[in-house]
Amino acid sequence: MRYPSIHLLPGQDRRLRAGHPWVYSNELRMDAEAKALPSGEPVCVFSAERKPLAIALFNPHSLIAARVVTRNKDATIDAVFVERRLARALRLRERLFDRPYYRLVHAEADGLPGLVIDRYADVLVCQLNSAGTAKLESAIVEALDRLLAPRVVVLRNDSPVRELEGLDQEVRIAKGTLDGPIPLIENDLTFLIDPLDGQKTGWYYDQRENRAFVARLARDQSVLDLYSYSAGFGLQAAAAGAKRVLAVDRSQLGLDLAAASAERGGLAERLEVAREDAFAALDRLAADKQRFGIVVADPPAFVRSKKELKPGLRGYRKLARACGPLVAEEGILAIACCAHNVPEDAFADEVWRGLRDAGRGGRLLRRAGAGPDHPSHPALPESAYLKCLVYTLD
Ligand code: SAH
Repeated sequence: MRYPSIHLLPGQDRRLRAGHPWVYSNELRMDAEAKALPSGEPVCVFSAERKPLAIALFNPHSLIAARVVTRNKDATIDAVFVERRLARALRLRERLFDRPYYRLVHAEADGLPGLVIDRYADVLVCQLNSAGTAKLESAIVEALDRLLAPRVVVLRNDSPVRELEGLDQEVRIAKGTLDGPIPLIENDLTFLIDPLDGQKTGWYYDQRENRAFVARLARDQSVLDLYSYSAGFGLQAAAAGAKRVLAVDRSQLGLDLAAASAERGGLAERLEVAREDAFAALDRLAADKQRFGIVVADPPAFVRSKKELKPGLRGYRKLARACGPLVAEEGILAIACCAHNVPEDAFADEVWRGLRDAGRGGRLLRRAGAGPDHPSHPALPESAYLKCLVYTLD
């Protein structure tokens, strides 16, 4: 066997055999030998009965101690291996989309644990979110080069999850140079995004289909785009004929990008931006008796760990209650939750309770998640983290 071995404790092989891609540190025989293995290196995972099960990337310092990359025990994890996985991910996206703007790699679901890559034509933005993918950096950049010959490769290694893996926070350009925002086309509208200073990789591709759905309902409507970032929802609604959009976010950069995109698309007259706390904006607008044909609320995760579940769920209820009075009769509320440990039913219950608190009734038009460039791993339900509910209110 080419790679060092790690051994599961007796009875701990069931989940792995059932297709789950992770081994937790308490499921392993963490002897001195295992603890001494360098983090991020490939290992062969054995059952307690000494049967080889998979090749995984190991990190003795993380709760997720091993992330499976392949069940083929003879595989070599190198640039060629990475390129095959990237090519498979690329083939799927090329079937799905006409234009080269999408999430190219969605971590475990694409067989590359902890690796996220968003593609903006010839600019690729990567997040190496596990020790294993961080070690594979040069293999990944090399494989991307062979496959797509990108002009620019940015490493946005500043996501908080890296801390759980014992990795530094950094933003670095691995190839090429960037000077300022770059264009992105989604659902036929061009946006300007900032892959270096913007949030995450610069854009939230996960909401693509939900934005298109909301845009279908937008003709002649007024739209309140709460937690708008760069107004992905609001500007697509404007392009589809909304007469007025108010985008609210506390990020000045997000709102500046929204304004720049609006200018570029001839939509500036219909976009107003407010740098404000979303709840403060909701109070202000309600006090002012404003009504909108469409309200979109796409907040950051209110639940970041299991112990935040209860207060976080109350947060979603409070948000729905505050949005309720601002939605016109027969108007639309699109409300999203990106917290991976909130199940969709729990979210839907809280939103409905919040709407009832506000004295509103209505119908649920759509329950949806992220678009298909964010596949989820069937054994990791939390990888289907996004829930977006669209209601029409009486
Ligand atoms: N709707 C956006 C993505 C939103 S991400 C899109 O379609 O692209 C969540 C946003 O909430 C971030 O832009 C963040 O700046 C903003 N945010 C976080 N807390 C906030 C608060 N208390 N008030 C207003 N905006 C907030």
